[in-house]
Amino acid sequence: MGTFNSKNENADAIVCPHCENVHGNYDEYLEVGDMSGEFEMECVKCGENFKVDFYSVVWFKTEKA
Ligand SMILES: [Zn+2]
Repeated sequence: MGTFNSKNENADAIVCPHCENVHGNYDEYLEVGDMSGEFEMECVKCGENFKVDFYSVVWFKTEKA
């Protein structure tokens, strides 16, 4: 595990801005096919609501067919 910084920096997990609890399971909040958007969720640890902005990054790798 790396060190997460909730102070307006991007991370590859949802970090609660209140208590810095890391929410690894965010599938239920995302619509299939969404590339970006925002939603609100409640921290399972401290119970505070917070807003999440997200975007997806698509990686490509090619090889000879
Ligand atoms: Zn929290």
